[in-house]
Amino acid sequence: MSTSTYLEPLGNMIGGEWRPARSGETLPVEDPATGRPFSQIPASGAADIDDAIASARSTLRSGSWSRLQPSERGRIMWQLASLIRRDGEALAHAETRDSGKPIREAREDIAGTADIFEYYAGAASKLTGQSHPLPSAQLGMVMRFPIGVVGTITPWNFPIYVAAWKVAPALACGNSVILKPSELASLTCLGLGGLALEAGMPAGALNVVSGTGGDAGAPLAGHPDVDLLAFTGGVVTGRKVMSSRAQLVRPVQMELGGKSPNIVFDDADFDRAVRGAAFGIFFAQGENCNAGSRVLVQDTIYERFVEGLAGMARSIRVLPPTDERCQMGALISRAHLEKVAGYVETGVREGARLVTGGRRLDDGALQGGHFYAPTVLADVRPHHRVFTEEIFGPVVVVTPFHDEEEAIQLANATEYGLAAGVWTSNVSRALRCVQEIDSGYVWVNTFNYTPVEAPFGGVKGSGFGRDCGMQALDTYTTWKTVAWATAPFTNWYES
Ligand code: NDP
Repeated sequence: MSTSTYLEPLGNMIGGEWRPARSGETLPVEDPATGRPFSQIPASGAADIDDAIASARSTLRSGSWSRLQPSERGRIMWQLASLIRRDGEALAHAETRDSGKPIREAREDIAGTADIFEYYAGAASKLTGQSHPLPSAQLGMVMRFPIGVVGTITPWNFPIYVAAWKVAPALACGNSVILKPSELASLTCLGLGGLALEAGMPAGALNVVSGTGGDAGAPLAGHPDVDLLAFTGGVVTGRKVMSSRAQLVRPVQMELGGKSPNIVFDDADFDRAVRGAAFGIFFAQGENCNAGSRVLVQDTIYERFVEGLAGMARSIRVLPPTDERCQMGALISRAHLEKVAGYVETGVREGARLVTGGRRLDDGALQGGHFYAPTVLADVRPHHRVFTEEIFGPVVVVTPFHDEEEAIQLANATEYGLAAGVWTSNVSRALRCVQEIDSGYVWVNTFNYTPVEAPFGGVKGSGFGRDCGMQALDTYTTWKTVAWATAPFTNWYES
């Protein structure tokens, strides 16, 4: 693929061809750093989704991917990872223009995407079944199969990276996939469709269709010929997707974000915890499902910690995201910026103390973009909306606690349960917190890192099923039991 193709996509990738939306319509692609459109993507609808599903089904039936020798599937996926690395700089540039994230973070996302394909390239040949001795002289073979046609609907915050979390294990298992990225950041995902073909994947194994959630996402979620739908996004949309899958009685995998607690005890390495708390919330502009958006601090160090965190927030360089010095970029859209700002106003109205930030940034080079200052709200109480609702922006709420019991009670006082952090030098305390916190992921004296090797996903309202790790393979495979008689067949009706 030519590198300019990532900025100006050639169409949807369906059945191994670049195709415009059947309607011929396109959606503008806006640069969050300027507020100005710079490209276009297909505005696909139900007819395009039907085409992609038909192509995925036909590839699945042909066996050209689903029954390919698994080690050969792995080789093709490894080749795809190499092509992602080859085009890393162009992909990172497209990701930054599309999503507003700092270029250095986009580079991490692209390298991480290649890591994900490499990890699952290796997994393709490790999928095995089981055998069981069964009663009545039968041999039980439990065989593992691809689940079939997999639909994936993914968000705008880590566009290609989160798509890879779902697409790579699904492909490794031999499924055919349809990827519907967010209309707000589709460029690199469309590019991935072209790279898969270049790597040698058969046409129709990976289809990528862009369009709005309503026009393209809903028909994909509601289609009876999609055997599994894997979703990452907000809880409101997740609920809609689950409802339509419920009507079909078809499985879903859901990753729905969180309100992750980051607990700092007074025996922690203070400076390390301050740095970790800042990274926990301000990385990716706070547009991060596992962001450490609630910092719970022991009362003995509370004021000093709030000042330290505010100092870190003030020091972060908010710049145009293509600037190499940029440490925090633009929020995804004007509407999202307003939502984030609205939450800060609500927090202050409810009694929170605005320590730093709390304003849009639009001077000089930031003019027209969706920039918001890193913000610290202190003295937040559990009944405040900003304590329980996902803001999804560079806004951290800080709450004091007295002892370990109260820290855990506060940590668990939300509907979510995706991730958590614990900062302490006491190993026993760390282990007790790990056991008591309702969460799919717990970091101890670190935060945010989600390498592909370990499973990622939530409990409670954060969803179910796991991305990453070998556990993701469970989502994308189904078991078939074969009971094989090894003795004469008795007549049930004899006596
Ligand atoms: P959504 O949950 O709406 O978007 C996630 C994906 O779902 C996108 O591809 C979107 O498409 C698609 N979608 C939207 N509506 C439908 C539908 N009816 N049927 C099927 N698919 C649909 O996220 P938003 O952009 O609206 O963000 C809202 C909030 O969700 C954020 O403020 C944040 O709190 C949370 N969020 C959480 C994420 C996470 O990582 N867990 C990621 C993103 C958001 P399109 O974007 O094209 O409309």
